[in-house]
Amino acid sequence: DPDMALEAGQVLDRLISAGHEAYWVGGCVRDELLGRSIQDMDLTTSAVPDEVVGLFDNVIPTGIQHGTVTVISGGFSFEVTTFRTESGYEDHRRPQDVRFVKDIREDLRRRDFTMNAMALTRDGKLVDPFGGEADIRSCLIRCVGAADERFEEDALRMLRCIRFAAVFGFRIAPATWKALLRKRHLLRFIAMERVRTEMEKIMKGPDPLRGLELLRRSGLLSSTKAATPWQSIPAHSLGRLHNLPEQQRWELLLLAGSFAPEQAAAMLRDWTFSNAFRTRMLRLLEWEKAVATVPPSVSDERELRRLWISWLLRWGRESAEDWLAVNGALPPDYRQDAASWRVAEVLAAKGKEWTDHTEILQMKDLDITGNDLLAVLNRRGGPWLGRVMDRLLLAAACGDIRNEKEMLIEEAKRVTEVEEA
Ligand code: ATP
Ligand code: MG
Repeated sequence: DPDMALEAGQVLDRLISAGHEAYWVGGCVRDELLGRSIQDMDLTTSAVPDEVVGLFDNVIPTGIQHGTVTVISGGFSFEVTTFRTESGYEDHRRPQDVRFVKDIREDLRRRDFTMNAMALTRDGKLVDPFGGEADIRSCLIRCVGAADERFEEDALRMLRCIRFAAVFGFRIAPATWKALLRKRHLLRFIAMERVRTEMEKIMKGPDPLRGLELLRRSGLLSSTKAATPWQSIPAHSLGRLHNLPEQQRWELLLLAGSFAPEQAAAMLRDWTFSNAFRTRMLRLLEWEKAVATVPPSVSDERELRRLWISWLLRWGRESAEDWLAVNGALPPDYRQDAASWRVAEVLAAKGKEWTDHTEILQMKDLDITGNDLLAVLNRRGGPWLGRVMDRLLLAAACGDIRNEKEMLIEEAKRVTEVEEA
């Protein structure tokens, strides 16, 4: 966004005319060299936080002890961080001591990879003490300084390393990779939220299979606090994962790992996925389980359609669409037994049509309520009522009966008589 760059330039001007040094830094400098679109621009300055706060009208003291102030300007917000060094990394996570310094090079030295350890002056000169530009040109991810130490300081850097390799299609420098293998056990010190966030960036990137393959080869995830069953799934059994949108990529991953829904529920909770995400994943697994266990007695298409619509009522349209998409991306040898292979084939061919043509999905879509039924049948409420309403809903959804009060009452009478008999 050229407006964002202009605005950031004005923030830099302000700092510079007050006698401070100020630069663009980190991810935005890297992304500029890579020709990638830039989401946010981080700035770094020799001014201490109080000085930054004093120079701008609209600021948020985001992490003032660590030197970070958010400056809001022209509708954009910029993180402005004072040159600093870090030390006293506790438990291989965040540093305990932050010291403000006067030299940009010292600030760049604390950053993780050479490509992330560059700054850009107001008039476009690169400050690149560790050869980041050359590494970007050779598509290489390399730690700043001694990789063993850098991973020991902050173990999340190992996962960032694999994430960048997967998202940019870069190689990992041999010394960095070897250090990662030596230090991989330290990832267990990192909170699962942060591990998940990196994992999500890998999964939604252009080449998730490469990320998964690097994770598998490194064994990096095996020391995390949560079970990581997909660690061992070989890439070839993930079919056309990259053709799916993000949510369905995760669903395919769980299908490929043959997880039972209960097993997956616990694992997804440990991974700190949101409730909405988990619910959607688990519905898909339930749906697949239903497909895989269709009884042999259900042989013709009519009966299969009835089953499909009953699932649709239980798990909803979104889940049907998920199953159709994910099923279509599974590797060809996924379904081992011939019966469920045949069932899946019919469902894959007809499922969309059956879904689109089902207009009645919920009780409230029915032209009758439970209270109406109690009145006309002159009976007291009880579990029978729910069962009858379910039958009516399925019958109406399948088109066996029309969704009109008279017809529904007729059917209800018939069904209750059958029940009583
Ligand atoms: P992206 O925003 O695309 O995920 P990024 O490199 O900008 O990637 P941020 O988390 O926004 O990542 O961090 C901004 C900069 O801060 C990085 O470019 C890097 O210089 C530095 N940095 C971030 N995390 C770490 C870390 N764990 N260790 C060392 N430096 C880091
Ligand atoms: Mg960033």
